[in-house]
Amino acid sequence: MLTPNFPKKSLGQHFLKDKNICAKIVKALNLEPEDTVLEIGPGRGALTFLLEESPYRYFFALEKDWDLCLVLRQELPFLNLICADGLFFDWKRLNRFKKLKLVGNLPYNVASPLLWNIFGELFSYELAVFMVQKEVAERIVAKPGNKQYGLLSVWLQFFSKPKVLFSVPPGVFFPPPKVYSSVLVFYPRQVEISTGEKKSLQKCLKVVFQQRRKQLQKILYNYLGYKVEEELESLNLDPKVRPEALSGEDFFRLALKFF
Ligand code: SAM
Repeated sequence: MLTPNFPKKSLGQHFLKDKNICAKIVKALNLEPEDTVLEIGPGRGALTFLLEESPYRYFFALEKDWDLCLVLRQELPFLNLICADGLFFDWKRLNRFKKLKLVGNLPYNVASPLLWNIFGELFSYELAVFMVQKEVAERIVAKPGNKQYGLLSVWLQFFSKPKVLFSVPPGVFFPPPKVYSSVLVFYPRQVEISTGEKKSLQKCLKVVFQQRRKQLQKILYNYLGYKVEEELESLNLDPKVRPEALSGEDFFRLALKFF
């Protein structure tokens, strides 16, 4: 199946070649006959073939690479394949599915923005199992006060409950990447938030984490042009605190007040 066109570095193509790891990822999905499954980036089908053999009600896959889509259509003629870029996919459309489960060995170069979009827009899924670069996984699950804690941690933990399941060495892929990878499971968090509030939170996180070494009062002064010490205190926030000490709920209160 491997043709001279693959792997494409620009599309983060590191194909899984270890059958045990593939089986562990699929097992983590705990598939049941009434599930709808979406695989992101099926590639050469390492997970796809196993998923096809598992119980599900509806299974579809999203792949950006047209060359791979042609191959997949030949090899898996019954697969519902959407040949499109996940970065431009309208994830909200999937909220109508019940018992939706997502899975993918994500392309490392776009894993963070993909996850940002997916969990910011999708709330009806049951669980998601994704493989990403180990360092990215550490950032995703990092807690306030941790060096790794940042924009991605706050956003993803605001909308979901992520947990690292296991890590894998470069040798399980072809071609091997330079880094280790980790598999995470995400469960939804029931958050009531409007589209406007979501935009405010996004803006707040981007502004605040751009100056993560500064005190909150200074960051907001730079952004707003006036002092907000008293307003911060009325929100129960220490004006001298630095962004990495704030929880998702703290950011949400800040977003509603100032952004
Ligand atoms: N699932 C396969 C495996 O584990 O062997 C392939 C994983 S490979 C790391 C990532 C896959 O995502 C590739 O097939 C790549 O073409 C695809 N991909 C890259 N960028 C994408 C995007 N923006 N949207 C959808 N798929 C993308």
